[in-house]
Amino acid sequence: MNDIIYCDHHATVPLCGPAQRAMLDAEARPGNASSAHLPGRDAARIVEGGRASVATLLGADDPSTVVFTSGATEANNLALNGVIDAARRDGRERPHVLASCLEHSSVLAVLRAAAAAGKIDLDTIPVDASGIVNPDDVADRLRDDTVLVSLQSANNELGTLQPVETVGDLCAARGVLFHTDHAQGFGKIPFDLSKCDLATVSAHKVGGPVGVGALYGRDPVLRWLVPQMRGGSQERGLRAGTLNVAGIAGFGAACDEMRRTWTRPHDGQPPERDRLRDLRDYLVWRLARELPGQVRMHGAIDPPRDPQGNDPPRLRLPQNANLGIVGVGPNRLHARLRDVLALSAGSACKALGGERSHVLDAIGAPTDEATVRIGLGACNDRAQVDRIADTIVAAVRELRGKECAA
Ligand code: PMP
Repeated sequence: MNDIIYCDHHATVPLCGPAQRAMLDAEARPGNASSAHLPGRDAARIVEGGRASVATLLGADDPSTVVFTSGATEANNLALNGVIDAARRDGRERPHVLASCLEHSSVLAVLRAAAAAGKIDLDTIPVDASGIVNPDDVADRLRDDTVLVSLQSANNELGTLQPVETVGDLCAARGVLFHTDHAQGFGKIPFDLSKCDLATVSAHKVGGPVGVGALYGRDPVLRWLVPQMRGGSQERGLRAGTLNVAGIAGFGAACDEMRRTWTRPHDGQPPERDRLRDLRDYLVWRLARELPGQVRMHGAIDPPRDPQGNDPPRLRLPQNANLGIVGVGPNRLHARLRDVLALSAGSACKALGGERSHVLDAIGAPTDEATVRIGLGACNDRAQVDRIADTIVAAVRELRGKECAA
């Protein structure tokens, strides 16, 4: 276990030190954040500190636009079902909803269930091999009865960045609500929150704990939503349940740490974003050089820096590589790697069911070849990336040898 290299940071990011310390500190205090006594007020102060940190990383001026949930899954459920139920309450019997075919299952499954129950008319937006939605495909599908469009900011498998700002503008011009699942992009990519009505984030994708997330909602959209978790009046009645004070403390500390390290030089290190991008580019370069014609990057490829060293607009998350391995069957490579490298073929949420990735299907990736999704993070350095490359190269050579001989 100790020797395994963790490179699956899209599935989850290990808890960062500041988050761990903030959680331990909060856990040591007794209060329920809804209680009026001193320990309760102390807990509420911790919650409001966490809320302010999440809001700041999101770019929200007003922290009260942030509602804490148990994660991105619940935030997506609240956003989508909250809007659908509100639209139906207001007399729209079967409103039209649009979502990209790349969305996480916590978006697609919610919308498909609502469609199957006859509550909405659902259209999905296709993609080509780039793994990036074309805003024209959204514009073509908007109808007079469209109430909601959902488009993620970054894909959890391909890392491809989606045109959320353009689509947000399109929606605003048509009076359609726009939700973005920002779980993977949060803190990691330039993001203009003013283009979104609703945005989902998750703590464990930024170095906070699993089991806490948030939904941002622009005023008055948040007030219009129908709550999905009923009970007490926590979170302005939008999400009942005793607040997860330690989780929120960890979430806030992780957001502060992201702001300190992701785009800024820190502790004698370059910005984490640049360090990881360089490592990712180096890994892909090594694999392409040592396995010529045998690896292909799924989804759009980031352009190199220009000769002046300027950064062109990026097409995917800096820490992501998603590679198809030509001539090696899907299961054999992972069986060979899994005790040495912690990486996956696709979304961890689907791995449990052993399902083929709908994202790879959407971009037309061949079904008979292996895919490796790599998400680098703070615990990976150059020596580890060399070991990742050595391990994949050796495994692919061995398996291709066997498959050619068979
Ligand atoms: N959306 C996206 C894009 C994700 O990557 C994930 C996590 N895999 C989720 C939603 C669900 O997040 P959580 O684990 O916080 O429920």
